[in-house]
Amino acid sequence: MVYNELRKDYLLNRWVVIATERSRRPTDFAQQKTEQTQNGVCPLCVGNEHMTPPAVMLYLKQNGEIKKDRDHEDMRPKNWLIRVIPNLYPAFSPYKYAEYREEIMKSEYFGYAIGHHEVLIESPNHNENPADAELPQLTLLVEAYVDRLRDLSAKPYVQYVSIFRNYGRDAGASLSHAHSQIIATPIVPRIPAEEVAASKKFYDQHQKCVFCDIIEKETDGPRLVLDNPHSVVFAPYASVHPLEFWVVPKKHAANMLELSKAEIEAFAETLKTSLKALKDLVNDPPYNYGFHLSINREARDYYHWHLEVYPRLSIWAGFEKNTGMYINTVKPETSAAELRKTIQA
Ligand SMILES: [Zn+2]
Ligand SMILES: [Zn+2]
Ligand SMILES: [Zn+2]
Repeated sequence: MVYNELRKDYLLNRWVVIATERSRRPTDFAQQKTEQTQNGVCPLCVGNEHMTPPAVMLYLKQNGEIKKDRDHEDMRPKNWLIRVIPNLYPAFSPYKYAEYREEIMKSEYFGYAIGHHEVLIESPNHNENPADAELPQLTLLVEAYVDRLRDLSAKPYVQYVSIFRNYGRDAGASLSHAHSQIIATPIVPRIPAEEVAASKKFYDQHQKCVFCDIIEKETDGPRLVLDNPHSVVFAPYASVHPLEFWVVPKKHAANMLELSKAEIEAFAETLKTSLKALKDLVNDPPYNYGFHLSINREARDYYHWHLEVYPRLSIWAGFEKNTGMYINTVKPETSAAELRKTIQA
């Protein structure tokens, strides 16, 4: 009898069964492409700026330079490269009077969903998704993430800023124009909170950042996807998705606010290379990615920001929803080997 492996996440109290009995190869998940026809007008395309709320941040192309601005009263410039707008149906909305946490979180079980919910339009080109984007444009995207993080994290009622991307209808993207979302919340959500708490515990025990430790181990191991001077990309030990990978910067920092221009560009390049490998390997699958970070100054020494990428190649059903335990039919070591081969090809 050969047993499946039960693996626990580096930090979270989350278990996954690596069920390779079915011995599926990552390429078995290659997507059948159904032509997605876009009906009607895209509200995020150039020329349709009037169809959205006014932009809170714009990167404008002006005389060969980038100018940062926002939409004004009846002025909606069309020469933008990046455009950030409030979500038309926000999950979290700003409230100008609530400056303090006590006015937002009324009890242990109740609060108001005060914060921000933004859509970041990544390019004037409808289909310029990261796997295919030109590097200068992708660099602007990462810079825009950092700018929004700076702005939103400075607000007194914001405790967390979630920056994420849904790609493909099956991953929850209702608009096909290349875009990300940013949600600023008045509490730290469960997964980042658990990561921060576990990182603190590790730091107290070992006087070392747990992610710096993970980087060291994964760089030499069978789950490595990519290693360059700025980042490592690897399939995490307890991946819950086939072909899941994380991008972790080598420089220790709790969030992206201190990144230099060169580091922003290097991160954009790593992101593009990894997402391109995923696209080439399994025919452009839907995916979600999201940053994990901390804006709490106390976490500076023990927390380490990173990006997690979850390809949507399997569907979670009753067991996962019922237990919070996962079944992954592809070994992370196999996922990493396939991604590595695709990058080197
Ligand atoms: Zn569009
Ligand atoms: Zn670290
Ligand atoms: Zn994480």
